[in-house]
Amino acid sequence: MLRNDELAAWDRDYFFHPSTHLAQHARGETQGRIMRTGHGVHIEDRSGQQLLDAFAGLYCVNAGYGRTEISDAIAEQARELAYYHAYVGHGTEASVTLAKMVIDRAPQNMSKVYFGLGGSDANETNIKLVWYYNNILGRPEKKKIISRWRAYHGSGLMTGSLTGLDSFHKKFDLPLEQVKHTEAPYFYRRPDLNMSEEQFVAHCAAELEALIEREGPDTIAAFIGEPLLGTGGIVPPPAGYWDAIQPILDKHDILLIADEVVCGFGRLGSNFGSDFYGMKPDLMTIAKGLTSAYAPLSGSIVGERMWKVLEDGTDEFGPIGHGWTYSAHPIGAAAGIANLEVIEKLGLQDNARDTGAYFRKSMAEALGNHPNVGEVRGEGMLCAVEFVKDRDNRIFFDASEKVGAQLAAATLANGVITRAMPQGDILGFAPPLCITREEVDTVVAATKAAVDKVLG
Ligand code: PLP
Repeated sequence: MLRNDELAAWDRDYFFHPSTHLAQHARGETQGRIMRTGHGVHIEDRSGQQLLDAFAGLYCVNAGYGRTEISDAIAEQARELAYYHAYVGHGTEASVTLAKMVIDRAPQNMSKVYFGLGGSDANETNIKLVWYYNNILGRPEKKKIISRWRAYHGSGLMTGSLTGLDSFHKKFDLPLEQVKHTEAPYFYRRPDLNMSEEQFVAHCAAELEALIEREGPDTIAAFIGEPLLGTGGIVPPPAGYWDAIQPILDKHDILLIADEVVCGFGRLGSNFGSDFYGMKPDLMTIAKGLTSAYAPLSGSIVGERMWKVLEDGTDEFGPIGHGWTYSAHPIGAAAGIANLEVIEKLGLQDNARDTGAYFRKSMAEALGNHPNVGEVRGEGMLCAVEFVKDRDNRIFFDASEKVGAQLAAATLANGVITRAMPQGDILGFAPPLCITREEVDTVVAATKAAVDKVLG
């Protein structure tokens, strides 16, 4: 076995890490870590240090680490048949079974699922399907996609464009011109502090209407949104937001894509965020919680209305020219089946709702009155604490102070992994859905101690 220092040297010399300050990493200044094993909500690194992972990897290990039901299913599938493709009507028992399980759990009007590998490629597929659909319908000009500032939909060319975070655009020549961004449903950061929640929802709706009118409704194909804004700050929408958005989309014949990559399969205590907020999507994006990240797998769920057009379209235009070598990979599908069974057998959706509520309540009790805490928020098994310089006047810290990053580092030093969300000073929490109340108490105590240390 390699010594830790040898592995660290190879890491610096050969490994191009995603979303990493490359120069700092090369100089050995990043807080990287090489992980070895995990169990439940805990993960252990190569030096033997145990950490409580209160962000479930990248909010994806929903079932928790070390579930042998899932790893056994993967091993069995690998022995039986590690791979066959899904082109021209092929499949495996695992991929067909998982397709049925997904559609059985999806909202009623959902028809078929196309399997990919990650959330980014699933969103890429969705945009291609939207374009294809409008071309079949003879409206080639109806192609633009509306997303929101602070959205996260991936980091490909199109999906990085849909993402509404500066660091995913900067120096990449993004966003592409077909993508337009509108106001984020982020009540705490509303443009005018005197706005009520209701007024802010009306403002978001008016901004959307104005954008559609400016661009021309006949040029707008779809609106994409996470039911609850995730990477942009873990922000539940203000009450009535989706009820205000949906009729605008209907009025202008604009498709709705619900990006369920974080919310899907239990994180909000429901099958999907769309169920939770009463959204009526035409397409849904799934990944992360589909396999709890035991194997890469994503999906684009297509609703009846689009499916009929796509299906009829192939009679006229031939087979749909879209596919990846690893679409519906049997190992991912086997992981997905076992994962959904574990989540249901252990009642993890209910735990997400109940223990998630306890999590936010405990966090609010511990930190809610701190002079630098602007808001404690979340839904299901998601929680965020937003830090500000001046709580009464909602004055944010200067980004150069890196308060969020300092707080995440201090919490890590107390044995708990959280995430400093990318824009603002926001600590994010999204533990595995199996977390217990005792483990929540550990997370809250570690966070409180970190806040006391960094902010006093
Ligand atoms: N959509 C949402 C809502 C996400 O949170 C993410 C990743 O965090 C993605 C899409 C992209 O998924 P992936 O990183 O698997 O490409």
